[in-house]
Amino acid sequence: MKQILLIALLSPISLFAQKTLLYCGKLVDVKAGKVQTAYTIVVEGKKIQSVQAGYLPAGKSDRIIDLKNKTVLPGLIDMHVHMESETNPNAYLDRFTKNPGDVAYQALVHAKKTLNVGFTTVRDLGGSHVVISLRNAINRGIVDGPRIFTAGVSIATTGGHADDANGLNETFKKDLGPEDGVVNGLSDAAKAVRQRYKEGSDLIKITATGGVLSYAKDGMGAQFTEEEVRAIVQTAKDYGFRVAAHAHGAEGMKRAILGGVNSIEHGTYMTPEVMELMKAHGTYYVPTIIAGRSVADSAKIPNYYPEMVKKKAESIGPIIQSTFGKAYKAGVKIAFGTDAGVFGHGKNLNEFLLMHEAGMPAMEAIQSATVAAADLLGQSDSIGSIEVGKFADIVAVDGDPTQRMEDILKMKFVMREGKVYKQD
Ligand SMILES: [Zn+2]
Repeated sequence: MKQILLIALLSPISLFAQKTLLYCGKLVDVKAGKVQTAYTIVVEGKKIQSVQAGYLPAGKSDRIIDLKNKTVLPGLIDMHVHMESETNPNAYLDRFTKNPGDVAYQALVHAKKTLNVGFTTVRDLGGSHVVISLRNAINRGIVDGPRIFTAGVSIATTGGHADDANGLNETFKKDLGPEDGVVNGLSDAAKAVRQRYKEGSDLIKITATGGVLSYAKDGMGAQFTEEEVRAIVQTAKDYGFRVAAHAHGAEGMKRAILGGVNSIEHGTYMTPEVMELMKAHGTYYVPTIIAGRSVADSAKIPNYYPEMVKKKAESIGPIIQSTFGKAYKAGVKIAFGTDAGVFGHGKNLNEFLLMHEAGMPAMEAIQSATVAAADLLGQSDSIGSIEVGKFADIVAVDGDPTQRMEDILKMKFVMREGKVYKQD
């Protein structure tokens, strides 16, 4: 007994730190764009301690995870989700019938589904205060889910895509302001960003043009002046925020890019001129092809959407995939994003197939959801690749998705920060 106590005092690390050795049959090196065979990843606590060729012998207290017949990848990152909501024919009624508590329990289910299919990090692009609480609960380890970076409340202009009072009758109609994420003019723009800071957002989301699912007529026109965008971006920089811009029409994209946003979401009617502008400014494109497909499909179901929304869903939805193909060929930087919530959570992986179908090689599609996404998040030091010192966010699939994109759907193993959430 005395001896054990003495050892414990002298070398606490060797006694208490259990290491996990992951034997990887194939290991995708997303930085080099190569697949290594027979590698060992050593995980200690939440971090990756070493990545070495061969299957290293394990110490007595070490845990071994055998992934010799799997392909191992960094935890995937979805740059466009809405954790709080999920499409359903009653979605337009939900905001009058659901309390924040209802939304929270639902969001938790969405978060678990997302993690279960291999997304260890997501960027949430618009919800309420609930998603901020969900992020905090996940960070504290109280509930399971992916690491969340959230915009919290989206920022729109009056009548714009994220103006929550759109379509309401006069009993409800109110003139929302910066606190609710609705701005007009430069001082409102700055105030809305500061309000997001106060609430605990990680980044800023603006709706630079009309959108499909809002109860409003126009789905693509510009809704901010370039000066308003610039005021938002400048203020965002003061608080260390990056800015994501929802945009379908080219004019709104141009103003957003010139105003300094970091990413264009959806980008449906992106022109060659906009693509050149994005390359010149280093702006990322987050395509969300699957969302376009899904809204077009849902629009076929009678009474699924209000008539006004149905028309937009039918026209805008199917276009994104070909736009993506052109933007990829033009050399625009691409980060993986799905808009999960607009379709069912947990189906995010299908986006890979749509990207691949549109001409992106499988390895590059995987890079868009790992290294590129981490870069757009500003988190390249801690996530996006399997390297020493980074978080042990590690997933594994059957087959080899770099050879056959469909294999990405065969998600069998999910680890986030060293903790195993899925092991089939
Ligand atoms: Zn969205």
